Amino acid sequence: MGVKTGFHHPLVSPPIKGGRLKEIPRSLTIGVVHRQPKNSLSREASGRIFPKGPFRAAKDKKKGVDDPMIDLHTHSFLSDGVLIPSELVRRARVAGYRAMAITDHADESNIEAVLKQIAKVAKQLNTDKSFRLVPGVELTHIPPAHIPLMVKKARALGAKVVVGHGETLAEPVEAGTNEAFIKAGIDILAHPGLVTAGEARMAVKKSVHFEITSRGGHSLTNGHVAAVAKKYGVKMVLNTDTHSPGDLITDEKALKVALGAGLDEDDFRRMQENAKELLKKNRA
Ligand SMILES: [Zn+2]
Ligand SMILES: [Zn+2]
Repeated sequence: MGVKTGFHHPLVSPPIKGGRLKEIPRSLTIGVVHRQPKNSLSREASGRIFPKGPFRAAKDKKKGVDDPMIDLHTHSFLSDGVLIPSELVRRARVAGYRAMAITDHADESNIEAVLKQIAKVAKQLNTDKSFRLVPGVELTHIPPAHIPLMVKKARALGAKVVVGHGETLAEPVEAGTNEAFIKAGIDILAHPGLVTAGEARMAVKKSVHFEITSRGGHSLTNGHVAAVAKKYGVKMVLNTDTHSPGDLITDEKALKVALGAGLDEDDFRRMQENAKELLKKNRA
C-alpha cells in the first residue's frame, strides 16, 4: 500500500506539484511532446485536449512518444488515495492524460465494493468521449494460494485492468506473490522488485506486463526490472501508482523515468503502445 502524504479534503484539493520539467536536456526531448499546454483549462474547455501544432509533425516521425500519458495504475480514496475518482480524473485531464485506470487496492474484504463504485463513476464520466476512465483493481497482499481465484473474481466483477501488487523492496510482500500473479494471468505485475528469470519467462507465456514505476520506493528496482524484461522479452508499461495529485506526471517526466531505468526512447514508445494494446485487448 502507498503511504499517505497528508490528508486533503476532497473538496479542498492541494495544488499539483512539479508540472512541466524545464531542465530536460534538448537531446532527450527530440520527438517528445510537451503535452501540458500553457493554458490547459481554456484549451480543455474549448474541447481541444490535444493542441494542434508541432505535435502533428512529430507524430508521423515517432508514433507513440507524442501520445498523451496512459496510466494504468492509480488510486482514489476508495482505497488509500486522497482524491475521489472524479477529481483524480479531472487532475489527470489537466495534466494532459487521455486515459487512466483507477486500480484501487483490494482484497477479499472490499473487491466487490471497489469495483462496483469505480464502474459506476466510470460509466458517468465516460459519457465525455475525450477521456477514458478504465475500471481496474490492484490485488494487494493476497496470500499467494488465493490469488488465482481473486484474479478470476476481479475479471468477473468487471475489472478491465488487473494489477498485481508485486514483491517490491518497499514492503514485506509475501514470497511467491509474483509467481502466483503471473501464473494467474494478470495484466500488469506492479513493482515486481527483484524479479527472476523464471518469472520473466513465465510472464512472456502468460502475456503479463512488468511495470516500470515513477513511485518512490517501488522504483528502487526499475533498472533491474527493465533489464530482465528486455533480456527475456517481457512487455513493459510505465505507470505512476498515483495516490495524490502530485504523483501524476507529464510524458516528459515519464520518458525521464524510462531513461533512468536504463531504457531508451524506443522502449518508452513501446511501453505507451503496450498500454494502448492492453486496453484494446481487454475491451476497456
Ligand atoms: Zn502496489
Ligand atoms: Zn498501487
